[in-house]
Amino acid sequence: MPCSGLVLLVPSSLPRVGFAYWFTTELANYVVILPVLLTLPEIPARGVMLDRLARFRPSLATIMPVVALGLSVVGSIVIGGPGAIAFPVPALLWCSLTYGLFPVTLLVLLSSLAMLGAETADLFRFVHVEDLIDSATSFRLGLTLLALGPLTVATITAVHRKLMLRLDRAVRMDGLTDILARRAYLDQSAALLSRPRPGFWSGVAVLMIDVDHFKQVNDRYGHASGDAVLVAVTDAISGQLRRNDLFGRIGGEEFAITLPDIASADAVTLAERLRHAVERLSVKVGEGQPIRVSVSIGVVHRSRPPAGGLIELLPLADAALYEAKATGRNRIVLCSSSCRAMAAAE
Ligand code: GH3
Ligand code: MG
Ligand code: MG
Repeated sequence: MPCSGLVLLVPSSLPRVGFAYWFTTELANYVVILPVLLTLPEIPARGVMLDRLARFRPSLATIMPVVALGLSVVGSIVIGGPGAIAFPVPALLWCSLTYGLFPVTLLVLLSSLAMLGAETADLFRFVHVEDLIDSATSFRLGLTLLALGPLTVATITAVHRKLMLRLDRAVRMDGLTDILARRAYLDQSAALLSRPRPGFWSGVAVLMIDVDHFKQVNDRYGHASGDAVLVAVTDAISGQLRRNDLFGRIGGEEFAITLPDIASADAVTLAERLRHAVERLSVKVGEGQPIRVSVSIGVVHRSRPPAGGLIELLPLADAALYEAKATGRNRIVLCSSSCRAMAAAE
């Protein structure tokens, strides 16, 4: 905080030295203390905090920068001399590339306080000269200006991280329905199927879902209403899924779901629940009649992850979906021998 009262404690009678001391104190407040207050994160609820602490697993890569900072501050105090002021800079830059904005502002504050404390205790053993400003004030000014480097890097890194997260999300998620986009769904499903399985693994199922007669919805109510229906359908389906299930938009009004660790009967029951959830939907768009739709679902189940991975299951789920369409729509079909023959013939 700005603290003009400190001027009274200036150990010199020269007005310019007093002014320089006051100025560097103010500058240090704004550069070193204010960023901590401005970046102070919201304190999460107790449960969230305990959960984060329980999940916190520090790695060597996350500990090393702060250890290096501590060592370099100690090193600068032990070695002393005018160059000592710059010793912590590389470690501070390392910290600003590794941690978030708030931890960096805190580390800058703590290391500056340690250096200032050491300077006050005369541990740097400066030769005190009454130059334009005295050496203590010069030290304080230098320390404050050095802090600008790590703070700038930390700010740029934080902005960059935020952008990368947004970019990653834009690539992974479907823009309309906010579920996995095709590529991300395929990649994540393939990774899930290739992971080693625990002994109690009950199997994997892939569901292929297609909205029935969706073209008519667009034709009758307009494309925007069609979009609203797609969002409502995905919301209804998402509400029925478990945390580890993967739900993706494969194409226009086609979706796929990978259900890990599920028995065949349970996969069929879930598919039936999804079909029913969509059938119950009544999407109100504007003043007109609520829109109702249905889905057809093809299901394929394997008690062991298939050798061919997802690529082996998708055509089978697709063939089962085709059968569901051919036999009347608004129904589910579990891939059987006829669907396998159909997929093999393609
Ligand atoms: P079927 O029961 O055989 O699946 O019939 P269908 O009309 O659903 O199938 P078809 O493949 O003939 O039509 C799919 C329609 O989905 C055509 C396309 O304009 C529409 N569509 C694809 N993507 C979108 C989208 O993002 N928004 C909207 N509103 N419509 C879309
Ligand atoms: Mg369709
Ligand atoms: Mg389709």
